[in-house]
Amino acid sequence: MMRMQEDTRTILVRYGEIGLKGKNRALFENRLMDNLRAVIPREGIGQVRKDRGRIFVDPAPDADTEGLLSQIARTFGVVSTSPARVVALEEDTIERAILSEARRALHARPNQSSLTFKVETRRPNKGYPYTSPQINAWLGAVVLRDLGDVFSVDVHAPDVLLQVEIRNHAAYIMGHTVRGPGGLPVGSSGRALLLMSGGIDSPVAAWQMMKRGLSIEAIHFYTPPFTGPRARRKVEDLAAALAPWGAGFTLHLCHFTDPAVTLHERCPRRLHLTIMRRMMLRQASALARHLGLGALVTGDSLGQVASQTLENIVATDDASRVPVLRPLIGLDKEEIMDRARVADTYDISILPHEDCCTVFVPSDPKTMPSLQQVLDGERNLPEHLLGETVQEVETLVFGPDGTMSEKPRGES
Ligand code: ATP
Ligand code: MG
Repeated sequence: MMRMQEDTRTILVRYGEIGLKGKNRALFENRLMDNLRAVIPREGIGQVRKDRGRIFVDPAPDADTEGLLSQIARTFGVVSTSPARVVALEEDTIERAILSEARRALHARPNQSSLTFKVETRRPNKGYPYTSPQINAWLGAVVLRDLGDVFSVDVHAPDVLLQVEIRNHAAYIMGHTVRGPGGLPVGSSGRALLLMSGGIDSPVAAWQMMKRGLSIEAIHFYTPPFTGPRARRKVEDLAAALAPWGAGFTLHLCHFTDPAVTLHERCPRRLHLTIMRRMMLRQASALARHLGLGALVTGDSLGQVASQTLENIVATDDASRVPVLRPLIGLDKEEIMDRARVADTYDISILPHEDCCTVFVPSDPKTMPSLQQVLDGERNLPEHLLGETVQEVETLVFGPDGTMSEKPRGES
């Protein structure tokens, strides 16, 4: 048998398998591999491949493994990931590798003089002569034999988990695991259009739906000169921050001054907020249908502000011809803020900005309008603001690293 180099390295990626069978599973795996290839810079990566329930990212020779790990750990669909030593299925090489990993774990914790550990084995290669419990006992004893002055066993809550996978042609030895975000690979659940403001909530709504595998494009309505270039820039920065999570991101900017001014002139003041939302949803649903996107997504949370009462949500949804998803509907502001920090959008969202709603909307909007009152309130709007015409938008495309890759794509 060919003797393998002991220091061959790879990064092992674990993903959720529950409920995934047959064709769905292959689709999930292929999508996840494509997304990993998209988020990892080409120079950092040798190959991305799959083998029996695992994905492997082989780093390029001088790649920054820690950097790769953190990128992988921010990819939806990844449950956890570990750098692995790949060694021949020979007892002495496996023993050497487990001792190296144990020493590495010790060096990574310079302030600790004693550590607990546990060996955990998986054995997809059923031809290997020892069972997983036997391997755990054998390698646990090896660690105690050579490093027993520092290490002791704790099978419940070890400081260091040494993982072993006995696969067909090699053993994979790991001593360090980084948790991923879980969820499903972006793109495995279809595509939707997010209504994105510059606030805290809507970017989190995008993140939350991407986590369930939706591929998200966003539309932002802006009203120059009432809202300035800074407000627009902020939305572009949010799109750039979401791009690594979505393996890229597309942002449509819709010039909304004419509708907003017309609304201001022709509709009852206390209904401006509801009618503004309806106009946005009408435009967004027209664009979604035009682009073949199956749903809209908003950042509404029930009762948070006047526009998010049940009555206003009902009156707003009536204007959309595609379903409206509201992933934050049952969350508190604190919970949404925590998620914004995880998604890396919080610091951008809290920057001050003018929003078309703060400019055009009264301070005392009607919180419980009936749909009929709203329809009556819209009576004086011109036909083009009530119908399904797709207004012109400017489209910006962001790559997985957040840089703008194309401008504009020229939707109409
Ligand atoms: P956010 O933090 O997302 O701005 P919010 O708490 O400020 O939410 P609203 O201003 O009532 O709530 O907006 C509710 C939802 O309407 C937003 O989450 C977003 O989906 C959509 N929305 C509001 N303003 C705009 C806009 N200018 N362009 C696109 N969508 C918008
Ligand atoms: Mg807002």
